[in-house]
Amino acid sequence: MNVNEKKCKTILSKSSLYGIDYSINPYTGCEHGCRYCYATYMKKFSNHSEPWGQFVDVKENVQKVLKKDLEKKDEGKILISSVTDPYQPLEEKYGKTRKILKILSKKGWETNLLTKSDLILRDLDMLTDFEDNKIHAGFTINFLKKRDRKIWEPNAPDIEKRIKALKKLSKEQVQTYVHTGPYFEGITKLQNIVTKIEDFADELQIEPINLKNDKKILNIIERHYPELKEKYREIKKNPLPHQMNLKEKVDEIRKNTDLKMKLFLE
Ligand code: SF4
Repeated sequence: MNVNEKKCKTILSKSSLYGIDYSINPYTGCEHGCRYCYATYMKKFSNHSEPWGQFVDVKENVQKVLKKDLEKKDEGKILISSVTDPYQPLEEKYGKTRKILKILSKKGWETNLLTKSDLILRDLDMLTDFEDNKIHAGFTINFLKKRDRKIWEPNAPDIEKRIKALKKLSKEQVQTYVHTGPYFEGITKLQNIVTKIEDFADELQIEPINLKNDKKILNIIERHYPELKEKYREIKKNPLPHQMNLKEKVDEIRKNTDLKMKLFLE
């Protein structure tokens, strides 16, 4: 793993993600190295030639830059993070996410965390410092089976650890959500995820898969799920029927749960 400390010029970036105004990424690169990651384009911007998951640039001056950025910009909803995991293992040593939360808890802007790691529990004291409804802690859960997690997210913590952390946060009255994205047709078992989390999460977000430029995902499907090869070729050619099927599935599940479900369609 190639780890470098670098200075950044800005940290609060305008975001086009649904319902989000700004994103904050304390790191460039991500140790979790998920095989479906949409953020691999960050390699180009950071001049790294190593494979995704093999480098991380730590933004060493985040506090100073964040304070400046917050003064210059209008209030908006923040996501930590959009192209890295704020609680990847290096966070234990560098604590950049913790420092960011310390500043934001005083500022009072709505803040959403999204991670695959139970390291978030280290910052429970910080999360409970936010005013009511100003902090939302989210976990990505795309599969429940260990085999699927190992294929797609080989370096990320086990799903059970994420669910345990979700329960703990919910018990401590922190607003929580689960993000299922990308939703993998034939692999993601949405009803099972709902059953597992509905008592502890305030919301489930679902994002369909985007295969536009993704040969890498198709190669993994061919290798590990050969029975789904044709289905994924069809989704790549025409994603619309897949998205409509997903919408129907979500509507069906909604009938039997009080969990708020939000489907992000393009
Ligand atoms: S945790 Fe998120 S940012 Fe990190 S590799 Fe996985 S999908 Fe990409």
